[in-house]
Amino acid sequence: MRQLIWFRSDLRVQDNTALAAAMAAGPTLAVFLLSPGQWQRHDDAPSKVDFWLRNLVELSRALGELNVPLLIRQADTWSEAPQVIARLCRERQIDCVQVNEEYGSHESSRDQAVAAALDALGVTFRSHLDQLLFKPGSVLSKSGGYFQVYSQFRKLCYSRLHRALPGLVRRPSAQAPLGLASDPIPTVVDGFPTPGQSLRQLWPAGEAAALERLRRFAEEQIGFYQERRDLPAKPGTSQLSTYLAAGVVSPRQCLHAALMINYGEFESGNGGVVSWINELLWREFYKHILVGYPRVSRHRAFRPDTEALPWRNAPDELAAWQEGRSGFPLIDAAMRQLLATGWMHNRLRMVVAMFLSKNLLIDWREGERFFMRQLIDGDLAANNGGWQWSASTGTDSVPYFRLFNPISQSERFDPDGHFIRHWLPELAGLNNKDIHNPAPLLQNGGGLFGALDYPRPIVDLQQSRERALAAFKSLPKLAPAG
Ligand code: FAD
Repeated sequence: MRQLIWFRSDLRVQDNTALAAAMAAGPTLAVFLLSPGQWQRHDDAPSKVDFWLRNLVELSRALGELNVPLLIRQADTWSEAPQVIARLCRERQIDCVQVNEEYGSHESSRDQAVAAALDALGVTFRSHLDQLLFKPGSVLSKSGGYFQVYSQFRKLCYSRLHRALPGLVRRPSAQAPLGLASDPIPTVVDGFPTPGQSLRQLWPAGEAAALERLRRFAEEQIGFYQERRDLPAKPGTSQLSTYLAAGVVSPRQCLHAALMINYGEFESGNGGVVSWINELLWREFYKHILVGYPRVSRHRAFRPDTEALPWRNAPDELAAWQEGRSGFPLIDAAMRQLLATGWMHNRLRMVVAMFLSKNLLIDWREGERFFMRQLIDGDLAANNGGWQWSASTGTDSVPYFRLFNPISQSERFDPDGHFIRHWLPELAGLNNKDIHNPAPLLQNGGGLFGALDYPRPIVDLQQSRERALAAFKSLPKLAPAG
């Protein structure tokens, strides 16, 4: 029975459920679809598309060792996917197409349409749980609904993990050569310019690079995770989100690496390990939310009452936020980190998202879209979850009255100003107090004091805080989100 594995966000050969299933079932071909039109619609970042292309090169090499040719086909939007996959199946006499599940609503509709087209040809379509530890819809409350509170979700996840830990899937052994060459991988795709070399070097492609990053984090950093995870100047987090989003590493590999350090314990032992596993479970939680409440993937708020918030149309302030010119050093340094590296530290994602949605009272969807267009780890569920958490429009989100103050966040999490000095060299000469709040040093109107070339704050923190609180208090009370 000839098999086709259709790679999507699972660009690896180790611990890959669909690949292993396909190769166990028969001679296997692989395909990846280039879908620039769809990627544009999804606001996928050029750095992310470039990362996929670079990983495809590595994947093709790894598949070559297994004698699995990787074919590249074009389906500009996913509406073309059924036809493209069906044609390939006809050309290559494929009996079964195997995939690892993806969970966005467009992804699900695409797969249903492909499965129907294949069914008409007598080709089987088989999908596997692989991207997550728990299939969305499998961790439910006693009443059978999706959890809306993370801690309750996590508790059930832990009890399931205690009972049965998802095992790693063996890397398949090589099959007999099929006499078919792999296609060349394009180096660039129209509409997605290649990022600079410095960004690319931060995110080396391939499973070996991902596993090395995981190994180093687990052996050298995870023990300090709890203390360092909120300090953007320290290498305190794993920076594996880019690899997890593209599926170059799996959550099972992450979980096993963490448990190995913690002698197999989940909820006790090394506090760093425990809190890191909790983050992996936030990833699971937001995927559950995406599937359980599909409105969040259609640009709707999780909490319907917040749709009535009086978002401001303030293009100049939005542009200042996007370009790192807000006049608040921590915000600006964070946005420059995002623009330069395609990634931002989690603490800062929360700070800048709350600043945009609360202090500037600009619709969180503007921020969500801008992030997606920049992030190399852009992931609909996590990005939407993070934005709705910060904007207090989401499930289990921060209470609307708990606004982060960007100056005190800066003093607390970048006390010596190391992070700010790195990204805002124009402020490097300031002392450890002024660096968090240079506004008092700036002359009226000019924005310049001596050699200091830095903008004045675009908003008054106290007044804007009150404006945000008033906006939330004015919301009509609707029935709780169901
Ligand atoms: P670590 O701290 O090492 O965590 C390990 C892994 O757990 C991460 O790689 C990630 O896969 C997962 N994880 C950690 N925190 C979260 C979280 N809060 N929600 C979901 N998963 C989490 N994460 C993305 O992967 N893609 C996004 O597009 C994204 N957008 C975000 C937008 C906002 C506004 C906010 C507040 C958070 C967002 N996050 C996103 C979550 C989080 O910021 C990143 O996952 C994290 O910063 C990645 O760094 P790391 O790999 O070093 O994380």
